[in-house]
Amino acid sequence: MTKRTKRRVLGALLVVGLIVVALFGRPAFYIARAMWRDRDDIAALPPGELDDVSRLNRAKVAEVWKMPADPVMAEDQLRALLRRAKAEKLPVSIAGARHSMGGHAIAPDGVAIQMAGFNRMEFDEESGLLTVGAGALWADVIPYLDTRGRSVVVMQAYDSFTVGGSLSVNCHGWQVGKAPFVSTVESFRLMNAEGNILTCSRTENADLFSLASGGYGLFGVILDVRLRVVSNERYRVERAIFPAERYETEFARRVESSPDAEMAFGRLCVVPGEKTFLREAILTSFHRDPAPDGTLPPLKRIADAGLPRAIFRSSIGSDYGKSLRWDVEKNVVTAIFGSYFSRNQLLHNGVDRLQERSADRVEILHESFVPKGQVPAFLDQLRAIIPRHDIDLLNITVRTVRRDDDTILRYADGDMFAFVFLFNQPLTPEADTKLEAATREIIDATLALGGRYYLPYRLHATPDQFRRAYPASAQFFEGKKRHDPTGLFQNGFFRRYGLGTP
Ligand SMILES: Cc1cc2nc3c(=O)[nH]c(=O)nc-3n(C[C@H](O)[C@H](O)[C@H](O)COP(=O)(O)OP(=O)(O)OC[C@H]3O[C@@H](n4cnc5c(N)ncnc54)[C@H](O)[C@@H]3O)c2cc1C
Repeated sequence: MTKRTKRRVLGALLVVGLIVVALFGRPAFYIARAMWRDRDDIAALPPGELDDVSRLNRAKVAEVWKMPADPVMAEDQLRALLRRAKAEKLPVSIAGARHSMGGHAIAPDGVAIQMAGFNRMEFDEESGLLTVGAGALWADVIPYLDTRGRSVVVMQAYDSFTVGGSLSVNCHGWQVGKAPFVSTVESFRLMNAEGNILTCSRTENADLFSLASGGYGLFGVILDVRLRVVSNERYRVERAIFPAERYETEFARRVESSPDAEMAFGRLCVVPGEKTFLREAILTSFHRDPAPDGTLPPLKRIADAGLPRAIFRSSIGSDYGKSLRWDVEKNVVTAIFGSYFSRNQLLHNGVDRLQERSADRVEILHESFVPKGQVPAFLDQLRAIIPRHDIDLLNITVRTVRRDDDTILRYADGDMFAFVFLFNQPLTPEADTKLEAATREIIDATLALGGRYYLPYRLHATPDQFRRAYPASAQFFEGKKRHDPTGLFQNGFFRRYGLGTP
């Protein structure tokens, strides 16, 4: 090679190198920085103290009592515990996985029942019903059903929650055309404040069925639940990107009118800026598409999200990171994750994969439901409200939920579009107060459009907002007095909205 050719080759390599750095240097820097900052240093609480996933409800309790796994032993011991607590005037709280965020599963200075591990399961092929212990996580239920060719009908977007906690908030997910979780429940057994076990269904103890579903642990301990299930099937993913204003029309066209659409969620662009913030949407839907030989992809739980986690976390506190993440979601997600999934695979997904793990920051959720026809107006309101506040919005997911005809404290009193907001904030009272102010404005905007908000997150709503969102709340708390006159079952939610304690 002559000197001149060598120089040319070196020059070309330099240009290629500069192009690579220009194209990938900045994203690589942001992703590497997110990995570097991603600490895992949350300290364990001292014995006798409890908190929930928000890490903002730390409280001392008199006693932590773990439900034994054996059902007969558990029922006898639980009855004795409730009698003792009543005699000693100790309030009793019930906890599943404590992923609620307002102390819903904690009564300070009381007895804290831990349901985790109370997870027996039995599937009856003939009736097609699954009986499952209330302390079972969806992460336990999904593999159990998978081996039987079945799947869960309605659950949250993640599998880290207990069945009892899911029923007590009456959760919903991204399953298309479905009412909240209780619509899939045939019956459940509940131990009340007297220590009696009652079977509750739409025909037996119907009053308690409607109160304790979505009843936030205020009517007794749900022991086990009988659930309808569906077949586990193979789904094909479809994705569409369009202006956010068109969300309702695109959803109607691509999902509601598609007879094979089973699951769907939307994401909204949260990159700050007049031209970007809530201006674009991605709709991802999953459609029944059996393999020619009928096989299903094998079920596996993804333990660590690796690169997707780093890309997600690069958006914290960074407009560029948010824009990078949006570009990745729009352009390369299908290439990374593939096109075919089993239903169970889509549901077998833990919250910890993307969640904040550092001691000084936390992620907080809020969810608003708005009736059909109101999505464009709600987006307008959000574009005005959110930029006014010093808060870090990482994500908005959009889903739909059908009318709930079962519960008293219902958030879906019609078919609704559900907007789930994910915020990241420093773990300080100041940051919590800032988010409280923003959340109250979002709730006012939601209520003005005839919407509702979801109850398991921070208790930021004022009591007046709570009553406006839940017009049957008076009936709910009258039911509480009827079924638990001494107020044995308590928690942060009841104290704030039922007893009026600040
Ligand atoms: C990252 C994240 C994502 C989420 N995604 C969704 C979603 O997609 N859809 C959705 O609907 N919700 C979602 N949630 C909210 C979640 O569904 C609720 O917080 C749910 O309660 C969590 O279940 P858990 O087992 O942690 O319940 P806990 O928080 O432990 O308890 C919740 C309530 O249920 C009561 N309870 C629990 N077990 C029993 C029992 N056996 N008997 C009587 N009462 C009981 C408790 O007293 C408490 O009031 C999400 C939450 C987080 C943190």
